[in-house]
Amino acid sequence: MKITNVLLLCCIVIAGCSNQPPAHDRQRDGGLLWVKHSAEYRAITKQAYASATAALPGFVGDTSWSAIPDQTDAADLPVAVILDVDETVVSNIDFQMTFEQPFANWKLEKWTSETAATPIHGVTEFVAAAHAAGVTVFFVTNRPCEPIDGVDDDCPQKRSTIDDIAEVGIVTDADHVMLSEEQGWNREKSVRRDYIAQTHRIIMLIGDDLGDFVPCVRRKPYAPCTVMATAEDRQALVEKNAHLWGNGWYILPNPMHGSWTSAVPR
Ligand SMILES: [Mg+2]
Repeated sequence: MKITNVLLLCCIVIAGCSNQPPAHDRQRDGGLLWVKHSAEYRAITKQAYASATAALPGFVGDTSWSAIPDQTDAADLPVAVILDVDETVVSNIDFQMTFEQPFANWKLEKWTSETAATPIHGVTEFVAAAHAAGVTVFFVTNRPCEPIDGVDDDCPQKRSTIDDIAEVGIVTDADHVMLSEEQGWNREKSVRRDYIAQTHRIIMLIGDDLGDFVPCVRRKPYAPCTVMATAEDRQALVEKNAHLWGNGWYILPNPMHGSWTSAVPR
């Protein structure tokens, strides 16, 4: 056998035995580059927040309105909106382009703690308008509340998330920022939406993931969900709620990560 053939065979054997995914060149990743560099991404986020801002007075004034399909009898409750945090309020594109694979929550936590947050375009103006209209703003994030080695805090993510939101010009506090694993919550955000709906009429949902709007969107279900969501299920959930997109629900683009990745054929 020629030496070149031997080398080729060795390469095939080594590649076949490896559990490592193929090397991914983030400098060529269209999703990352689009978020980082395109004017279109900026325009879409501004468009979403401008639409939400324009709709605020109508939803505040219509006491029969809720952005939670099964919320009723909420006419006398104070009014609130719910925003996700990552890629909805703060942009983590520079982390996405530079972190050492594989992803780990502690890596994002370290980066956000050490880096001044940058806003998603349009969010600061929207939240200012919401506050001016007397609307309470809640932030529901799946950043996990969990200890980190060497950090003397059971939930350091709570403080760093509040700080990140403050860094983009939005004042909030611990009562209005809700993390996964806090108070027994899990990654299923509908549990936290229902919790807020006990005390507030929720007029808007804003996020970058289907799970920021509807329950049970993941391949791996979290309680109270029990069934894996397929790609077809996820598409059907969009259609089932067609009347809410751009009308109480405002979704932002995120081609980098999210529950959608679990629906990609393997
Ligand atoms: Mg997000």
